[in-house]
Amino acid sequence: MDIRQLADAHIANTYARFPLALVKGQGCTVWDDQGRAYVDFIAGIAVCNLGHCHPDLAATLAEQARTLWHVSNLYYTAPQAELAAWLTAHSFADRVFFANSGAEANEAAIKLARKYFKDRGAPERYRVVSMKQSFHGRTMATLSATGQEKVRKGYDPILEGFDYAAFNDIEELSCLVGPATCAIMLEPIQGEGGVVVPDREYLVQVRRLCDETGCLLIYDEIQTGIGRTGKLFAYEHFGVAPDILTLAKALGNGLPIGAMLATEQAAAAFVPGAHASTFGGTPLVTAVALKVLQILTGEGVLERVAETGAYLRGHLERLQSKHPVIKDIRGMGLLIGARMDTPGAPIVRACMEQGYLINCIQDNILRFAPPLIVTPAEIDGLMACLDNVLSGMEQ
Ligand SMILES: *Cc1c(COP(=O)(O)O)cnc(C)c1O
Repeated sequence: MDIRQLADAHIANTYARFPLALVKGQGCTVWDDQGRAYVDFIAGIAVCNLGHCHPDLAATLAEQARTLWHVSNLYYTAPQAELAAWLTAHSFADRVFFANSGAEANEAAIKLARKYFKDRGAPERYRVVSMKQSFHGRTMATLSATGQEKVRKGYDPILEGFDYAAFNDIEELSCLVGPATCAIMLEPIQGEGGVVVPDREYLVQVRRLCDETGCLLIYDEIQTGIGRTGKLFAYEHFGVAPDILTLAKALGNGLPIGAMLATEQAAAAFVPGAHASTFGGTPLVTAVALKVLQILTGEGVLERVAETGAYLRGHLERLQSKHPVIKDIRGMGLLIGARMDTPGAPIVRACMEQGYLINCIQDNILRFAPPLIVTPAEIDGLMACLDNVLSGMEQ
């Protein structure tokens, strides 16, 4: 039976999939069940930062699969401890809580922020201010934090205690932060909201607002973390550190893992029994995640992101001067959005037919998030394809 028919008959109908069944991947290329190759400029939505089936990651996974998969968090395991030590040594954070997904990492962050104030005798401080157009996940708490109506629709009543400020607008945020606020939560660069980069000064002012009011600052770096923007974490570009930061997506390069990083002071609210996860930080996923970080920082991958990103962006800008349908190009490193004066879906589909996978968000913003190992030749190929597609549409 055809893979598509089997899936459509038996899987919950939550995804509007392309009619593409992928069977194999290597580097920046994936293959479908007809043997056709596609250059992947979305990388599982900013997940496979080191490309598909990286041989060293496959070897680490196989080695750990022969050693120890899972024992629960009743016991210590070396990969989990070593990964936490690595993450804290390379960030603002002192402690890590491991989860299995982005939404779960954000759940942990929201729970921690609430408990932090309960523990300090201020139970009235439970509200979180997040941003309009933000995306934080699909669980009840994280969809409540998400500032997009389409994600919350159908799930009323959403969780109580969330307020939404316009992104990059310190005035509106200052008005919303009150005596009941425990945290401000934002993506340093909004991903699903349309690849929106704020002013540096905005984040400086958000940090100041947190310091003045005692609110915890939570960065959701699930999409922007792990080298995507050319630094390990996007906040490093802005020089403004949070109290809590969440990771997932590229941390396992495709293995499901999430993490919440926090300062010692914030993390103190998590004591034995306060939070837990059966699968969180299994030796299998943490061994691979540690290897991901070692390859990313040890083999020059991270250093090349800024250059490759500038190359992609420069090409897009040249394309823009030829095709005025491209309105605006924004982003950082290899997270780039191109706002179009036309729906993006037909462009995505036409590129797919020519062997390139890209993605569209917010109806008219093309998003490019290739593996960080993407080559100039692969970028040249995509640009020729896009040039072709846009020229075809203009006729
Ligand atoms: C993808 C994403 C999430 C949700 O991650 P899941 O692993 O799908 O739960 C949360 N926040 C941001 C910024 C994301 O990009």
